[in-house]
Amino acid sequence: MFDPRIQGHQAIRAKLLERLQAGKLPGTLLFTGPEGIGKRRVALEMAQRELCFRRTACGDCEGCQLFHSDPLPIELPNLLRIAPEGKAGLIKVGMIREDDLVEGGVINWASLSPALGCHRWILIEDAHRLNGASANILLKTLEEPPPGTRFLLVTHRPEAVLQTIRSRAQRIAFAPLAPKEAWAVASSKGWHEGSKQRWMALSEGTLRYLEEDAFQRAQAQLEAWMLLMEGGSFPSASEPLLPEKDAEKAQNEQLREALEVLLRLVTDVARVRSGKEPALTPWADRLRKLAVRPLDLRAPQDLIHDALRNLARNPSGEPLLREVALSLV
Ligand SMILES: [Zn+2]
Repeated sequence: MFDPRIQGHQAIRAKLLERLQAGKLPGTLLFTGPEGIGKRRVALEMAQRELCFRRTACGDCEGCQLFHSDPLPIELPNLLRIAPEGKAGLIKVGMIREDDLVEGGVINWASLSPALGCHRWILIEDAHRLNGASANILLKTLEEPPPGTRFLLVTHRPEAVLQTIRSRAQRIAFAPLAPKEAWAVASSKGWHEGSKQRWMALSEGTLRYLEEDAFQRAQAQLEAWMLLMEGGSFPSASEPLLPEKDAEKAQNEQLREALEVLLRLVTDVARVRSGKEPALTPWADRLRKLAVRPLDLRAPQDLIHDALRNLARNPSGEPLLREVALSLV
């Protein structure tokens, strides 16, 4: 009854299926947990099972293949997918109420009767990107969804989802994948054994580095932060940390990634100091050398947490990164 191509989260998936079959699935579910661990895939699996020719989410039939197509269409026979768009990456009112997405917008789509044996699933990806107006328009429908309609909201930043939406949804908290589950996905996407240790250490049970570019960037950032901690100069070491202006990803999101890499590095150095094995094992030798340097780790940790909290207000990355780098030596 489960798609063998989806890794992990077995207990949650079993529970969801059980409640679905018992007719006890609430109108709105909020899937939370770290970025890139397959929350969206689990949400899709529920709709996939209904269109599967075997009704099992076999993963192979033509019905299932619809759900594995890349790119995934905005609309499938029993599912409508809402995702942030544009440079600002927001879910705007037009998608919810008007007709630029599907005729009549989400609310109308939700009110059409489902096909026999199906629900009408509405998947809202990155639900923290719903802007205030969209969220407010959605609220009433979330409260009393039309019969047969189910909302699946997915987010790695639940604290940024409007409180009134959160309170109407039942929260399902996902944990990271086991490292071997994450690697199973990676190797099915063509990753080779040679990268396995570094990929697993950096990915920490997520699939955020499935793309070669993303992995290389994270690795270069880790390298850059280590150089800076070893006393390297900011202008020569910082290049991989600076946000790219033309990238598809917003600059403060890029900055967040660079800072998160540093947070893990600093945490790992602290771990080594307390006599434990580092989590970033492939870099263990360098971490051990960093651990014996006379450095107060609390200052950079506080600074990083502060910066991560205030990223939305940070217009430019370089001064911030420079400040953080200074706290490392
Ligand atoms: Zn199937």
